[in-house]
Amino acid sequence: MAAKPRVGIFDFTGCEGCELNHLNFEEQLLDILEHVDIVEWREAMDERADELDIAFVEGSLSTPDCITRINAIRRKSKILVAVGACAVQGGVNAMKNLQPIEAVREEVYGEDKYLFPTLPALPLSAVVKVDHEIRGCPMTQIEFLKVFTALVMGKRPVETDHAVCVECKLRENECVYDKGMVCLGPVTRGGCAAICPSFGQYCTGCRGLVSDANPAAMEQILVDHGLAAEEARKKLQLFNANQLEGTQS
Ligand code: SF4
Ligand code: SF4
Ligand code: SF4
Repeated sequence: MAAKPRVGIFDFTGCEGCELNHLNFEEQLLDILEHVDIVEWREAMDERADELDIAFVEGSLSTPDCITRINAIRRKSKILVAVGACAVQGGVNAMKNLQPIEAVREEVYGEDKYLFPTLPALPLSAVVKVDHEIRGCPMTQIEFLKVFTALVMGKRPVETDHAVCVECKLRENECVYDKGMVCLGPVTRGGCAAICPSFGQYCTGCRGLVSDANPAAMEQILVDHGLAAEEARKKLQLFNANQLEGTQS
């Protein structure tokens, strides 16, 4: 019998919500373990591995130690998968990049700021090659299983690149704009089955921008629907600060 793929699960700066979703695989856990060997996972085991077939990595990179660690994970992994908005886009953490990093350190750590070498929050792809992405805040178990199954079968996972609005229309939802709300569905990458609008909520854009997004037009639509210019900008920046603004050093 061929050896099972060796899998590692890693975390960087984030709330660990995506990783907790791995732990919640109650029904599928035995099936997963039947097809792979999980050989490194800080949250669940002490062992460390020298080589991996697949690394699933959560969180953004926000300290010099993160940069060293992600390079080491990349070197020992054949396939690296970024998991969740923090790992894929920098996530909400990247909002701090909108201010000079020294000001952020001073605000958080005060006179002890030199003890904590914080960097701007970066997506994994800013430092290492990322082979696949599982988006969302948090990632969903359904999507994780799709990517996981494809990789274990030696196939390339299919990545969604259409707007949330497409999935929202397929579900025949009433648009929240018609209910007096605003929504980032037109510029946000789908794959979540438009779950928020399907429950009457607006899309906050957690899965990042679709590749042909027009954020300037989206911002104007938000303003046309009553948001102040600064408020509209902040809404778009929430999960896309790096993509829209770059970082300040
Ligand atoms: S993407 Fe969201 S749920 Fe996942 S680690 Fe980041 S903040 Fe937490
Ligand atoms: S509710 Fe949002 S996602 Fe749905 S159609 Fe309207 S703008 Fe698009
Ligand atoms: S609807 Fe928007 S905010 Fe909700 S899960 Fe999908 S991308 Fe994220």
